[in-house]
Amino acid sequence: MSLFGKPRYSTLKTAINVPHPSTPKKTKIPPGTFDQCKGCGGSVHKDEWKQNMNVCPLCGFHRQLPAFERIKLLIDDNTEFEETDSAMKSVDILKFEGAASYEEKLKKNREKTGLNDSVVCGTGMIKGIKTAIGVMDFRFLGASMGSVVGEKIARITELATKQKLPLMIVTASGGARMYEGMFSLMQMAKTSGALERHKEARLPYIVLMTHPTTAGVSASFATLGDLILAEPKALIGFAGPRVIKDTTQATLPEGFQLSEFLLRKGLIDRIIHRKELKHEIGVILQYLTVKKTKK
Ligand SMILES: [Zn+2]
Repeated sequence: MSLFGKPRYSTLKTAINVPHPSTPKKTKIPPGTFDQCKGCGGSVHKDEWKQNMNVCPLCGFHRQLPAFERIKLLIDDNTEFEETDSAMKSVDILKFEGAASYEEKLKKNREKTGLNDSVVCGTGMIKGIKTAIGVMDFRFLGASMGSVVGEKIARITELATKQKLPLMIVTASGGARMYEGMFSLMQMAKTSGALERHKEARLPYIVLMTHPTTAGVSASFATLGDLILAEPKALIGFAGPRVIKDTTQATLPEGFQLSEFLLRKGLIDRIIHRKELKHEIGVILQYLTVKKTKK
């Protein structure tokens, strides 16, 4: 048989009923099964995100955690978190109008997150040590700091001072809440004042900065910790790198404003992977709260 006389593949396929190798069987993946990682752009299955505490298995990027998931991760197993000021709600004092009013934004974010504002405060046990805890939740209006966030942070700090407890705040924030104008900026002074009194009482304050911690929060209570910890590759700074680049017209160094860069520059004391967080925080608290014995 001559070369040109051979049957074509399509004819052969019909004859022996074999599917063409270049047309694999299509399987439908329901939308929302995979989430793209902001660190590496890779697609990761939702179950894998969950099993991995929202840490990308491909590049180690630490995604944001909802406040109550973070609290569960921090406190001792089978112990209760006693929430404080959970009913406190923001008020649209400036009657802010924009594409959507502040009232509408608040309502939408309350429904989306099940929270009343972007910080959850209370007390819980970490390695058997009663600790005052504040955790910011980026899902609620970018964890921006308005009057309620400032008031709740100040109150949990005052509670810690009164009850002689160590304080731990997990930060994440896009900055001050523009819908509250000057009222949100005043929270920087209020939280800092409360922390000063906690410090005067010689009580430890630990900060854990998570991605992203910026603007008014980074310029107040997030950088006042006795010990400042951060998660890997978290963006930390006042203005974002794009704004700085545009303003200064300078080429920014590689990794600028990431926690690894800030550790080298001395702003951060330590970077801790989320998987080791519970143990490490516990050990730090044990060191910092050890009772002095008189000789
Ligand atoms: Zn990744």
